[in-house]
Amino acid sequence: MPTRRRLLEGIRRAHQADAAHTTAVRALTRASTASADARARVASAAASGFSAGDLAAARAAVDDLARRELEARRKLCRTFTAARTANSTLGALYAPHARGRGTGGRGRSVIAAGILGELAETPRELVLAADAIVVSTSGGKDSLVCGDRVVTLAAEAGCLDKVVLVHADLGEESEWPGVRELAQRQAEQWGVRFLVVKAEGGLLGLVEKRGMWPDAARRLCTASLKRDQIAPLFKQITDALGLDGQALILSALGIRAAESPARARKAPLALDMRASSSRRMVLTWHPVLELTEADVWRRIAEAALEYHPVYDALIPRLSCVFCVLAGRDILVRAVRLCWALGLDLPTRYVALEEHIGHRSREKLSIADIVAEATLAEAEEGPLIWARGDALRRHVGEEAAAGYLRNLAAAA
Ligand code: SF4
Repeated sequence: MPTRRRLLEGIRRAHQADAAHTTAVRALTRASTASADARARVASAAASGFSAGDLAAARAAVDDLARRELEARRKLCRTFTAARTANSTLGALYAPHARGRGTGGRGRSVIAAGILGELAETPRELVLAADAIVVSTSGGKDSLVCGDRVVTLAAEAGCLDKVVLVHADLGEESEWPGVRELAQRQAEQWGVRFLVVKAEGGLLGLVEKRGMWPDAARRLCTASLKRDQIAPLFKQITDALGLDGQALILSALGIRAAESPARARKAPLALDMRASSSRRMVLTWHPVLELTEADVWRRIAEAALEYHPVYDALIPRLSCVFCVLAGRDILVRAVRLCWALGLDLPTRYVALEEHIGHRSREKLSIADIVAEATLAEAEEGPLIWARGDALRRHVGEEAAAGYLRNLAAAA
């Protein structure tokens, strides 16, 4: 593990130094172009007989841009030297392990993927080596099984105290009621610390502020409501650890490959370049990546893990009530579930659409969804569901009955 960590850190530094150099190259190109344009303007101003005042101002601008260009050139030299040093340090670190194989660019990514792949195959060692383990939870079923896996591993390795469960609370204007409380109960049952980060206003606030809805291509919501809220925790955890050397933080996420092609391309373990620094190495860990939906429900039944009741009402994901990624049928059902639970969210979201003049989808507004839900309600009557229905659908009546008995006994 120490050798792999040193190599990963070498890769991180080389990657970061190369990225800084690439940025410096771009900055110099911009500065050189701006400087050349300014000089051309002075030449043409002089030829067109501009006033002495205008000419002096144009020459001052040229001097200013020339200074910036010089600064950009110096930065380029510094970043070039830093990148060369970082790459040769990495080369020296890697040389004893694979003679003749390069560590630049793609070679470096391949080496990192190999090391991370090996580490992912030995989760117990990973957990033991970590200084802190952050499990992000939405409160949903995949997060639940992810948390269960991590907690089980950490408990078996005798280091449960490293685990912290983090929930990004989007508020009841965005999410189904009881999500935060459920996540907290899960943490309490596992005996781990529970932290909440809150994105003020949630999805409703974000849409109102931007005057438009996010969409699948520009999913700003996940970044600003979840990832950006959780990111500062890595620094806080590192500070609290107070280690002399670099801390190793595992950041566990309950995503599954079967959910989408993008998720299927994820590796079980990845180096989080954005969150890592010389003080901490953050590895993003996907402990339930290979599980199917049925596997998840089987584990929930087997371990009597408390899941959110919206799953029983045929809502497949515990996400924002009007998630921008949800299909039409799910949104219609979400509206009907809101009515069944006495929530006024459909009315509020319809009003928001009208207020900002932007529909939640190009060809589908929440108002359309509400109209469809009204028709469905007239034809079928209000939604009816019972606790355990999600398990009945996925793992059968017997498993559901056992689950409900276990849950009642544990209450
Ligand atoms: S649940 Fe859906 S709408 Fe909410 S933050 Fe995630 S992707 Fe965006």
